[in-house]
Amino acid sequence: MRTTNLTVVLRYVRAHAPCSRADIAASTGLNKATVSSLVTDLLERRLLRETGLVANRIGRPATMLTLESRPYAAVGIEVAADHMTAVAIDLAGERLLSWRRASPLTGPPGKAVAAVAALAGRVVGKVTGQGRQILGLTVAVPGLVAADDTVRFAPHVGWPELDLRAQLVKALRRPAYDVAVDNDANLAALAEQRDGGYADIPDLVHLLGGVGVGAGIIVEGRPLRGGHGRAGQIGHLQLDPGGPECGCGRRGCLDAYVGLPALVRRALPDTAADGPVVDYAPEIERIVALAGAGDATVTGALAEAGARLGHAVATLLDLLDPRVVLLGGSFAPLAPWLLPAVEAEVGARVTTPDAGRIAVSTLGPGAAAVGGAARALDRVEAGHLPALP
Ligand SMILES: [Zn+2]
Repeated sequence: MRTTNLTVVLRYVRAHAPCSRADIAASTGLNKATVSSLVTDLLERRLLRETGLVANRIGRPATMLTLESRPYAAVGIEVAADHMTAVAIDLAGERLLSWRRASPLTGPPGKAVAAVAALAGRVVGKVTGQGRQILGLTVAVPGLVAADDTVRFAPHVGWPELDLRAQLVKALRRPAYDVAVDNDANLAALAEQRDGGYADIPDLVHLLGGVGVGAGIIVEGRPLRGGHGRAGQIGHLQLDPGGPECGCGRRGCLDAYVGLPALVRRALPDTAADGPVVDYAPEIERIVALAGAGDATVTGALAEAGARLGHAVATLLDLLDPRVVLLGGSFAPLAPWLLPAVEAEVGARVTTPDAGRIAVSTLGPGAAAVGGAARALDRVEAGHLPALP
C-alpha cells in the first residue's frame, strides 16, 4: 500500500512539477499528513527534491517539489542490423548521452552479445563516473522476444533462439541493476507514450522503419504483446503475392517494399555496384538529398514505398483503431515524401471517416533505445524503487 502511494506521488510530480505537497494532496485524494510522510521518503531516496518557495493561492509560501534528476540514470541500447544506438536518460527523461555505432551485427551471436555488452559497459562506466546509480538497462532487439526475455526470432541480425538477457548479465558480471530485453518497436512505442509528441494518447501505433518494419502497439494505455509476443510483427504482411521476393522466402511482403534494403535498391540503383550496404545512415542521407533536389527515380521510389506503407497503415487503422499512427525510425527522415502517398492510400482504403491520423514521430533515430531507458523509469514508477541510502 505504501509503495503504491509512493508511486502515485512520484507519477504526480513527474506530470505536474513543480508542485507543492498541498497540490499533491488535493489532486490524489491522499491526506496531507500521508503526503508529507511519502514526500519525506521520496526525498530520502533522492527521487524528489525541493526547489524553493512559491506563494500559493492564498499568499502563504509553499515549498515546491520536482523530480531529482542527478543521482540516477537509465540506459537503453537499440540493436539494428547495421548499427547500435545507446541512450542514457535521467529520472526526468533528459538525455545524458546518445551514441550511435555503425556496427553490423550479422556475425555469430556470441560476437554480437560481446559487442552489445561492451557498448553497455562503456555507457554504464560513463554515467556511473558522473556519480549516478543505474536504475536499469534494456536492450531493444529487431525481432520476436518472449515474455522471459528470450529472443525467439531475429532474422535481420541472423540470431537463432538466444537467451540474450542471461548472456548479457553474465558478460556484465551480474550487475546490481535490472537487465531486460524487448522488441524494438514495442520500446519505441513506450518512448512515444512517455516522452514523444503524442504522449498520453492511450491508443497509438509506432511504425518503426529499418531493415525490417515493426509495429509497436499501445491499446488503452498498455502495450499489446499478444499470446506469444508476436503482436505488431507486420513486416511479413503480404501485400501482393506476385510482388518482389522477400527475405522470408515469400513474395510481396511489406518488408520487401519498404525495408531499407528494398528501398535503397529502388531509390539508389547504383548502390549495388559498391557491394553490400553495411551502414544505411549515409544511404538515407543520400536519398533525402536527392529527393530534396527532385530526383525522379528517388521520388518515384518513395511514392511507391509510401503507397505500400499506406496499405499496411490502413490495415492497422481498421484492425486496431488507434488515434494516431506514427512513422518512426528510417521512415521519419523520409516522411516528407512518404507521407502524401501514405495518406492517399489510406484515404482510398479506410472506409470510416473518423479513422486515426498519421503523423511523424518526433523522437528521431534511436527511439527504441530511448524506450529501453524509459522502461527502467516505468519500473521505478511501478514500485521498484531504489533502496534508501
Ligand atoms: Zn516476408
